[in-house]
Amino acid sequence: MTEADQVRDDPRTDQLRQRLEAVRRRISQATAAADRNDDPPRLIVVSKFHPAEDVRRLAGLGVTDFGENRDQEASEKASMLVELDLRWHFVGQLQSKKAKTVVRYAHAVHSVDRPQLVAALERAMAAEQERSGRGSLDCFIQVSLEDDAGAHRGGAAPADVPLLAEQLEEAGGLRLAGLMAVAPLGADPDRAFQKLSAISARLRDDYPAATGISAGMSQDLEAAVRFGATHLRIGSDILGSRPAVR
Ligand SMILES: *Cc1c(COP(=O)(O)O)cnc(C)c1O
Repeated sequence: MTEADQVRDDPRTDQLRQRLEAVRRRISQATAAADRNDDPPRLIVVSKFHPAEDVRRLAGLGVTDFGENRDQEASEKASMLVELDLRWHFVGQLQSKKAKTVVRYAHAVHSVDRPQLVAALERAMAAEQERSGRGSLDCFIQVSLEDDAGAHRGGAAPADVPLLAEQLEEAGGLRLAGLMAVAPLGADPDRAFQKLSAISARLRDDYPAATGISAGMSQDLEAAVRFGATHLRIGSDILGSRPAVR
């Protein structure tokens, strides 16, 4: 075991271990209840606002996938922890000009929501694959589940999914992984994730390999598992609260 693999022995590690175990229990219960034991979802721990040392502690506890929503913060953590062989998932709104840095560390981008971003990621990946020989970038189309198209928490309108899917499918260096969504504030998560599941079924009719459904946060992971989430993005229930405003 290298030093980096060693489980720390400090109070914060104990706290993270307990919270991680509690979340893992919720996930296994939801997975069993949905009769999905042979197809369990993957846990992504969203580490935004929390220090690289917490990521190191969680890696020691067996977590391999981490989510971040700001390029600079993600980039710094990833470079501090390169020796850990982690998978970084970019889950936040992404400006096209940041594509170049994101592809240096990200295994996946969950927030692809417009054609210009696909084009920027494709260009960035061409350069990055030339430089580092990295494998393709998993791309999830973020879809808005708002009934009122105006009040957005981000994401493409469901009607725009086919166009983005086609663009991703044709882009070099990018892999169409599936869909991502955030349940609208105050909405019934079951209803929201049921809608997502229907959009995913239509996408898979055309692109059978695009099986990913990135859905479910601390508050609504059970509903997400019920409606087929393959990737859960859990932050505060494991790492604790973060500043309300960013
Ligand atoms: C912060 C964040 C999460 C994690 O949310 P919690 O409620 O802390 O579990 C998940 N997805 C996205 C897109 C986020 O920005």
